Amino acid sequence: MTIPFVDLKAQYHSIKPEIDDAVLRVLESTQFVLGSEVASFEKAFAAYCDVENAIGVNSGTSALHLALLAAGVGPGDEVITVPFTFVATVAAIGYTGARPVFVDINPSSFTMDPNLLEAAITKNTKVIMPVHLYGQCADMDPILEIAKKNGLVVIEDAAQAHGAEYKGRKAGSMGDMGCFSFYPGKNLGAYGEGGMVTTCNPEFARTIRMLRDWGAEKKYQHVLKGFNYRLEGIQGAILNVKLKYLDQWSKARLDHAMLYNKLLAGSRVKTPEIMMYGTPVFHVYAVRVKERESLMAHLTQNNIQHGIHYPYPVHLLPAHSDLGHKAGDFPESEAAANEVLSLPMFPELTEEQIRIVTESINNWR
Ligand SMILES: *Cc1c(COP(=O)(O)O)cnc(C)c1O
Repeated sequence: MTIPFVDLKAQYHSIKPEIDDAVLRVLESTQFVLGSEVASFEKAFAAYCDVENAIGVNSGTSALHLALLAAGVGPGDEVITVPFTFVATVAAIGYTGARPVFVDINPSSFTMDPNLLEAAITKNTKVIMPVHLYGQCADMDPILEIAKKNGLVVIEDAAQAHGAEYKGRKAGSMGDMGCFSFYPGKNLGAYGEGGMVTTCNPEFARTIRMLRDWGAEKKYQHVLKGFNYRLEGIQGAILNVKLKYLDQWSKARLDHAMLYNKLLAGSRVKTPEIMMYGTPVFHVYAVRVKERESLMAHLTQNNIQHGIHYPYPVHLLPAHSDLGHKAGDFPESEAAANEVLSLPMFPELTEEQIRIVTESINNWR
């Protein structure tokens, strides 16, 4: 029996009647784009994240793009982020015409190292964009303090961190804006594409609401150069059903991670660290291992699916070679990219499955 990396079918079947009802309701209402189901999900998600506004969009990438535009980012500006992230973080900065500027990660958390942040700030810096990678928050307090001192906007890339906490505060509520993805495999996943911007700033919220729908508040009165970045009604209805289960699913992910950590203690892989400052939601359970190729072959032989998030740091990707970086520029990100290995992680994973995975790793020679 194969142990899957994620199992979206198991989750659908656990809530099928409610999901099917919600989808059929939208079909009957014919509110296929935005509409009341999206509005009601936005309200529920804002409350969940402890923010005043949540604006639904058609992907996490669109959320990042619009948050940057709302912050006034454009050509000539610089946005600071990390190279150890999914490429979308950096691509969204590029969409605005601004230049992505990287700071390396803290290898304990795989997130932005605040100690390296001030050296990256120039007179052109507008925004700092930390990434809550794998569902664990970046160390936000020092980042927010540096941002405040320098008059910079903070946008959290919370695409992997729905419900994660930092010193009791929710991901997406700490910076000026938070950006979420509802790609199917994310911790809160749509049955298609989706995203959200969270913010307590009413001006940012208003601008993003306009930008996602052609820059207009009233039909055909286009005030801003906008986009078609609207969230679909069916996705809003599905996400609203799934939001009720999110905490329970996050708890299951955390329990799985603790069991993995326990059963892999003393093995040849280094288990992920949980930072003292918060509660992660384990979007990805990534171990570090030097002989990664060999372990991957062993897992494949044992029918255990696995992944790498991510095999190349963004500064070394051909798509971003225009930034002029070379190997050695961000050593912690490069080391992480060479060593991380993601094991099966999803709420419906069973203890039995975790034991099979960990036994296989412990038997690897
Ligand atoms: C998934 C993801 C995104 C992009 O979200 P999409 O919905 O796929 O556009 C951005 N940043 C991070 C860290 C992600 O994991």
